[in-house]
Amino acid sequence: MSVRVRFAPSPTGYLHVGGLRTALYNYLFARKHGGTFVLRVEDTDRKRFVEDAMKRLIASMRWAGIDYDEGPGKEGEVGPYTQSERLALYRDAAEQLVKAGKAYYAFDTPEEVEAMRQIQEDQQLPHTFYDRAAMKNSLSCDAAQVQAWIAEGVPYVVRLKAPEDPNKQYILQDLVHGEVVFASDSVDDQVLLKADGFPTYHLANVVDDHAMKITHVIRGEEWLPSAPKHLLLYESFGWEPPKMAHLPLLLNSDGTKMSKRKTIGAFQVDVMVEDYRDKGYLPEALINFLSLLGWNPGTGQELFTLAGLVEAFSLERAQKAGASFDIEKLQWMNKQHLKMLELTDLAQRLKPAVIASGMPMPSDEALAVIAGLMRERVTFLEEIPTQADYLFRDPTVYDEGVVKKQWKGDAFAKMVALQSQLSGLSVWERDAIDQAIVQAAEGMGLKKGAFLAIMRLAVSGAAGGPDLLDMMALLGQETCLRRVARALEALPPMV
Ligand code: GLU
Repeated sequence: MSVRVRFAPSPTGYLHVGGLRTALYNYLFARKHGGTFVLRVEDTDRKRFVEDAMKRLIASMRWAGIDYDEGPGKEGEVGPYTQSERLALYRDAAEQLVKAGKAYYAFDTPEEVEAMRQIQEDQQLPHTFYDRAAMKNSLSCDAAQVQAWIAEGVPYVVRLKAPEDPNKQYILQDLVHGEVVFASDSVDDQVLLKADGFPTYHLANVVDDHAMKITHVIRGEEWLPSAPKHLLLYESFGWEPPKMAHLPLLLNSDGTKMSKRKTIGAFQVDVMVEDYRDKGYLPEALINFLSLLGWNPGTGQELFTLAGLVEAFSLERAQKAGASFDIEKLQWMNKQHLKMLELTDLAQRLKPAVIASGMPMPSDEALAVIAGLMRERVTFLEEIPTQADYLFRDPTVYDEGVVKKQWKGDAFAKMVALQSQLSGLSVWERDAIDQAIVQAAEGMGLKKGAFLAIMRLAVSGAAGGPDLLDMMALLGQETCLRRVARALEALPPMV
């Protein structure tokens, strides 16, 4: 049987990094096994529904490079993939259980259910439950009454009839947690179909996993308590449950559950994938980082491309323990991926940052060289145009510290000598520039070293930066000579 997995988000706003981790593991598992990755929209909770959330979520997945095979906009045989478009299916399934005596109608108002819960809480019961016998439903009331309520249009829900055997256990062979045993009181007469005709999460989830032929449910550990309810539903329908794997929780570095944006120490830890995109993280870095939050390759290798992850991934190496989200590690990861990407690729990704910085846009070729010169010096691509503005436009100010230290004595004369040597060059490349600087130095009976700092000052205005010769080769003869002339004007001879 070919592997079919699904990512089943509820469109409540945005894609959480934990959601992306779940999507990623599903994606990797599908790719690894030549299977199918389904995206299913679980939008049956109308109270939490947010317009446009799905568009944002799909855009975040696309940005991260996690593409699905079937889902909204990619119809397959088991669609539609949005639960609100599948309501008839859930209604039929609920009716099927009622007919089989495994579910029943309940006519209680929300207030009555609340009052029942209150009584149980007052009695300090270990947990509240739907008290079937005490309430208004098709098990506790006679058929004529039930028919009358239905005829009158009294709203009702469909509830699952949980087994009464207090010794019943629900046993899950979880692919991450191993055998997990749930006691009978972990399931209740849960609502399957709500009064508005919408299914609950549990019903829709199980009906769809079955209808969509899902072989493996890979989801976050927060859904582990739902597993016995789902197992009971599968049992009630007489369906084989899929295999399940519950991924460990994502934790902040202070050990708290990662749910909302939080400031920890010097860092603001975001949870929206969009925030990481906007902060300049490379999707490759975020994916690599998330891949290791709950899984490890067992080899100590830390840097992976998505294709490399597909190769290396296995659920057997997924871990139970909560995984700590360490922003500094993510930043390190970003630096590593900056070094791993092709320069032509980096050049394209650098463009929006150049536009945002207001700097003139260099050619694609020059951008690739700039990316190459700077990638070891930054954590984010966005830093390049601001940190090294001199790679984009002539400097207008000169670093005071360098001026103070270097622009003295015969600095002006050195600069003039450099100017003359550099303007004589007919080939503008690294070695030739180097030779010209040596010549200028030797002409004054000096060593090259003393010329480099003022050369850098004239060309960049800055104290440090990428390799001087590479930078000059990139900028070109005309630009370098223009900058030298400007420096000679702006920084007069010292006496
Ligand atoms: N709709 C659930 C969610 O929002 C899906 C949980 C599951 O994968 O079963 O995460």
